[in-house]
Amino acid sequence: MRIGILAIQHESNTFIPEFTEIENFKEAVHLVGPSLLDFYRGGHHEVAGFIEGLEEAGYTPVPIFATFAFPRGPVSAAALEELWATASEELRGAGELDGLLVAPHGAAVSEHVHDMDGWWLSELRALVGPDMPIVGVIDLHANLSPKMASTCNALVAYRENPHVDQKERGKEAVSILRRFFENAAKPVMATAMVDIVLNIDLQSTLSEPLLTVIDRLDAVRSNPGILSVSMIMGYPYADVPEMGMAFMVVADGDVELAERECRLLAEWVLERRHVFSPDLLSIERALELALSSEKPVGLLDMGDNMGGGAPSDSTALLRYCTRAHPQLRFFACLWDPAAVAEAERIGKGGSAVLSMGGKSPMSPAPPLEALVKVRDIFDGRYSESKPRHGGWTEFYMGRTALVETENGSTIMLTALPAFPSSAQQMLAFGLDPKDFDIIILKGVHSPVTAYQEHCPTLLRVNTPGPTSADLASFTYQNRRRPLFPFEELPAESSS
Ligand SMILES: [Zn+2]
Repeated sequence: MRIGILAIQHESNTFIPEFTEIENFKEAVHLVGPSLLDFYRGGHHEVAGFIEGLEEAGYTPVPIFATFAFPRGPVSAAALEELWATASEELRGAGELDGLLVAPHGAAVSEHVHDMDGWWLSELRALVGPDMPIVGVIDLHANLSPKMASTCNALVAYRENPHVDQKERGKEAVSILRRFFENAAKPVMATAMVDIVLNIDLQSTLSEPLLTVIDRLDAVRSNPGILSVSMIMGYPYADVPEMGMAFMVVADGDVELAERECRLLAEWVLERRHVFSPDLLSIERALELALSSEKPVGLLDMGDNMGGGAPSDSTALLRYCTRAHPQLRFFACLWDPAAVAEAERIGKGGSAVLSMGGKSPMSPAPPLEALVKVRDIFDGRYSESKPRHGGWTEFYMGRTALVETENGSTIMLTALPAFPSSAQQMLAFGLDPKDFDIIILKGVHSPVTAYQEHCPTLLRVNTPGPTSADLASFTYQNRRRPLFPFEELPAESSS
């Protein structure tokens, strides 16, 4: 059995006025041929799960194309055209295939095609014909579209947020795909969109209100006729009609069972929708709580969430902290190539007033200016061996400078945006989280798995920026209406 692997992954924030270009994919992940297998094999990504699951089954993984760019604005039309040209050319040259495993992110938006994943999956289906099984894995931050659902035979979504189960989901997709060849009954999928936008602040699978929902999903999974159950939380920073929650249920040939269980889940959640009203923590309140908590306290900067498309250079939280609580020692990482260059000019051991962060057009606060000593400068590469949000094992921040203020606060300045999912970002460079009172983290859930062992308290803070948790601060034009909690739903929605 020869099974093609195709991954085109982007989470597109439509509130960011800069397109994601082909260069952004090429500088992140852009792989064809055997290098695709070498890159993912042994890691924690769903493509690693595809490879491992196929090889365990004695199937042959056939690398087609895998590409990824960090979340940013919508994918430009030219970039989408080039991505699909590469994918379709590689597919045509791949020889005879028996099935396909795909990994769209599920929240990609392009310049002219708002349902980018639905679009390329439809093109894929047209190329391979109606009979080839296509099974995929999507992020639970997908905005599930009817096209994604109708072009794939089955989809499964990550179950965990932070995403530490990506590899398992890849293997789950393989086990569903195998049933097309090894079982009499073929997998069938039902989907249901739910008119709820689930605020990012409430999207942790480690706490309520989602723990109760997870119990309910587990109960449905215990039905022997059910192969897979997924909850889509949605990605609220894409202003598209599909934005919001959804469920996907895959059954073993019994379409009525899949449809019934999926509908019941949607109705059950809609009835309980009022538990999904967020209660956001202000910067001031977060610092009050931090003062009385065991140190170090991790402050999750929700408005400057790099994993949601923000530039990770916002000084809004850092400026408040240093002004209101100058006695505390802070650690923060800011994307700022100009400050890195300036630190290199000053040189290791030198001191000067440096302007840090706050330079991108989307940044909600001006740069932080402070007298700092350049502690170290290095090439910002590090590795992570444990499963972490995103499934990545190798990290690169570009040239990186560590600078220290007079009270021992440390700011890491990076030439490239730095994904905060691994504490090796500190540990690998000789920084001990215990040496700080406050660690500012440019994510909402992505840093949690890594930092919960270092920070007795982690607080999600309602900060400004292009990934603000205050969804009322965005002007939506394309989302569906009514959508709770923006609007109350008509009474029949919950019956
Ligand atoms: Zn995600």
